[in-house]
Amino acid sequence: MDAIVKNFPVLDDTGRPTQKEAEEAVRVLLRWAGEDPAREGLKDTPSRVAKAYREIFGGYDLVAEDVLGRTFEEVSGYDDIVLEKDIPFYSHCEHHMVPIIGKAHVAYLPSGRVLGLSKIARVVDIYARRLQTQEAMTAQIAKAIDETLMPRGVAVMIEAEHLCMAMRGIKKQGATTLTTTFTGAFKNEPAEQVRFMTMLRGFK
Ligand SMILES: [Zn+2]
Repeated sequence: MDAIVKNFPVLDDTGRPTQKEAEEAVRVLLRWAGEDPAREGLKDTPSRVAKAYREIFGGYDLVAEDVLGRTFEEVSGYDDIVLEKDIPFYSHCEHHMVPIIGKAHVAYLPSGRVLGLSKIARVVDIYARRLQTQEAMTAQIAKAIDETLMPRGVAVMIEAEHLCMAMRGIKKQGATTLTTTFTGAFKNEPAEQVRFMTMLRGFK
């Protein structure tokens, strides 16, 4: 699993261009697309794009372990599957910087401790708001939860549409890519995997 879990550098501001430089780069891309960046309607576009980039790629400023690390809660002996399903996310493929739109389903088998329910969605967001491949993102979410919460197992399934496939290249709309990562009991015990799938598909 480690091979595809890239260790993203979390940049501090010293590694970053200035807002002005980012805006200039947007003007270059506008000209590259055939536009006139001086046109009235595009006047504020470079600054809007630069700001939007900080938001949609805000995951580089966040560390999943920080979010997970403070969130343990004691539960009175609950040790069965906790499944958070249909977590919507928007990411961007690292090959074309075009959106990936999908849903993440994340489950774990607690070992004495559980996560606050919003934390899993936040972890999905942290990895989604980076340039991604779906495979890496799936593994990263599983790894972060596995290493921080140390549950008996983690199961992550992502289903997503890659707009780079729909809008360009082979232009296949509506194709969905599914990826999974299983750790611990979900990996070693087929019955647990089946329960995960059944919970996922059983109650729509
Ligand atoms: Zn792509």
